[in-house]
Amino acid sequence: MAEKGKMLQKGKGGMRMVPVNESSASPFTLPEPFWIPDAQCQSCIQCQGKFDFLNRRHHCRRCGKCFCDTCSSTKLSLPRMLYVDPVRHCAGCTGISKKENDFFEKHVKALLAGGSFHVNQSGETNDNDTVFVCKLSPDHRHLHFENANRRLDDISMTDIDAVQIWTEENDSDGNPLASGLAMKYKDSCGEMQLVKMVVAGQNKRQGQCWVASMQKAFKMIHDSKSSVR
Ligand SMILES: [Zn+2]
Ligand SMILES: [Zn+2]
Repeated sequence: MAEKGKMLQKGKGGMRMVPVNESSASPFTLPEPFWIPDAQCQSCIQCQGKFDFLNRRHHCRRCGKCFCDTCSSTKLSLPRMLYVDPVRHCAGCTGISKKENDFFEKHVKALLAGGSFHVNQSGETNDNDTVFVCKLSPDHRHLHFENANRRLDDISMTDIDAVQIWTEENDSDGNPLASGLAMKYKDSCGEMQLVKMVVAGQNKRQGQCWVASMQKAFKMIHDSKSSVR
């Protein structure tokens, strides 16, 4: 069941599927929290119930704080910390992980599936006849641009500096639909580049979803970067 480049690791919080090489980790992953030592928590920080032989302490896998069984009974997937099975969550962390799991279910799937775009990179001539399929790589680290005749350089997800989406039309409920996006990123030589992508092809809806998902992915990577200790 091991995936390529990953290994199963048994840790204090449960089984995790970790990359063999740390440099191949998904940019959506988060480090495991520091677990508050048992001696430093005598009671559940949620309900204040004292820990003893019957009322055991448990660590929330997401925040590392100590709770009684009742206050940490929710078991949820925690893909950002690479857990294989659903793990114990406190009430505060449950809401955060639910939102993130929604991101993995909807938006990561949309990014992996890809969308069709007219693509203009800095220094390239405008060629609006060529349509590229843009996809997130299976390890979530790069954006690939594919076309039967041409291939553009990959963009590293962690080297994207800014994402701006623009909207042109509204859906039947009056909500704006993304018609494209512009991204500022560092290329493999460290030079700042700009790419503009306009939704193209038959299945516009898929491209519009891809753009919205890309904006969420950028925000998630950016938030993770700023939360690193
Ligand atoms: Zn409790
Ligand atoms: Zn927690």
